[in-house]
Amino acid sequence: MKLTLNTIQNAMGAVGFLGDAGDVIPTGVQTDSRVLKKGELFFCISGERFDGHNFARLAVEHGACAVVAERPPFSMDEMCSMECEEGGVPLLMVRNSVDALGRLAAYHRQQTSATVVGVTGTAGKTTVKEVLAQVLSVRGETARNHLNLNNQIGLPVSMLAATGEERFWVMEAGISEPHDMDELAGVLRPDLAIVLNVGSGHTQGLGDKGVAYYKARMLNYIAKGGVGLVSGDYPDLVREARRNFREVRLFSVKDPEATYFAEYAGPESETHGRYKVRLEGRDFEIVAPFRGAFAAENVVAVAAAAYILGLKSEEIIKGFADARLPEKRFCCQQRGNWLVIDDSYNANPLSSARMLETASEMAGGRPLMLVMGEMRELGGEAVSAHVQLGKNMAEAAPEAVFWVGGHAEEVRRGLAEAGWSGEMQIVQTPEDFVNRFMDTGLRAGLVLFKGSRGNKLERLVEAFCVEP
Ligand code: ATP
Ligand code: MG
Repeated sequence: MKLTLNTIQNAMGAVGFLGDAGDVIPTGVQTDSRVLKKGELFFCISGERFDGHNFARLAVEHGACAVVAERPPFSMDEMCSMECEEGGVPLLMVRNSVDALGRLAAYHRQQTSATVVGVTGTAGKTTVKEVLAQVLSVRGETARNHLNLNNQIGLPVSMLAATGEERFWVMEAGISEPHDMDELAGVLRPDLAIVLNVGSGHTQGLGDKGVAYYKARMLNYIAKGGVGLVSGDYPDLVREARRNFREVRLFSVKDPEATYFAEYAGPESETHGRYKVRLEGRDFEIVAPFRGAFAAENVVAVAAAAYILGLKSEEIIKGFADARLPEKRFCCQQRGNWLVIDDSYNANPLSSARMLETASEMAGGRPLMLVMGEMRELGGEAVSAHVQLGKNMAEAAPEAVFWVGGHAEEVRRGLAEAGWSGEMQIVQTPEDFVNRFMDTGLRAGLVLFKGSRGNKLERLVEAFCVEP
């Protein structure tokens, strides 16, 4: 963003005296004093564990050009004692710093001429956001959320990191509480809103209206003349989407008659797959950095979005061919005699079921080893979801199974109920895992690592990739 402190103050409705600093243009916004760079605007945010107000002094000493705060984080006397520009830096007082950040991002969004794409869904938001941003880059500069920063702090910070002069913005929104989508989509106001899928994931905090209800709320906030692009494969979602917005376009991986359709056509290489795509009646084939039928959903969502935004089929094909997946999301690599699938970023019932199916298909008769971890944030569904996970694991017919984290008993029960006769091993540390793996005697095949972030499965991936 290139906005003066004067404009920023007005956009946020903040109180404070800017004096000569009104024309200063911050080099960016920052909520973390440890990484703040000189010239950035510091937001004091009160989090669960830390209160940013306690770090305002540090931010000023690191060169913050101004501080946004809910209460004075230091006295004028203190400011005079700090190592900063003479006279100190302006303080902008707001009722709530997170809301102020959102208001500023909303203002920046109004000013930009970029076409703004919002992505939501239960599984695959970051994957679709990253791949779509790479495809759209074939046409023009494209901004996107940094990594997975998709909440009420991360989304505005990502939007404010964009200059506003880009051709496209692609931003994901992640929700876990009933009001989240209204707050996020209200700031983003997408021109194109993609709702990728719905399943249980982050369901703990959502009310009883259903996941589809909350995801589809993004469509309420589509900018004038915009488009909603929604999966037609989830009836609840289609119903909720049509309730919120009339101009819904549907994509599908099940119905070839849908306006946008894709299906998996087989492997191209160990890391890439071929997908047959039909967009508004035009057929073509895409080679993408995905394997398996599960990713047809991502392929069709990305291809349809790019098509709606005016890219030609050659541009879309080129964009996919050059795209890379974000780290730890079903990334395949050959290590010695093993094809290693690193899907250690996150897990929920929807993504786990699909990844197991895909891994088993990719193994194609080779020994399959599963290294899986607890699925978190499932609330009351946790027990039944882990029994079901065990069943899905058994259906993949693994040679060996390792488990990290809670709900091991439920997973064992599911494995046994579905007829798997092996013994699931509980793993505590990377060394423990490597030792147990060596004891299996398995020396080649395919290994899938999948679990929630908190399981830190990436440490096991690292240990494994050193060993085989
Ligand atoms: P988060 O809610 O943590 O932001 P996300 O929706 O951004 O998650 P990703 O990080 O892209 O999702 O992927 C998370 C997991 O979902 C990965 O294991 C990935 O392989 C899997 N996944 C990606 N696309 C799909 C899909 N269309 N359906 C099911 N699982 C998917
Ligand atoms: Mg994400």
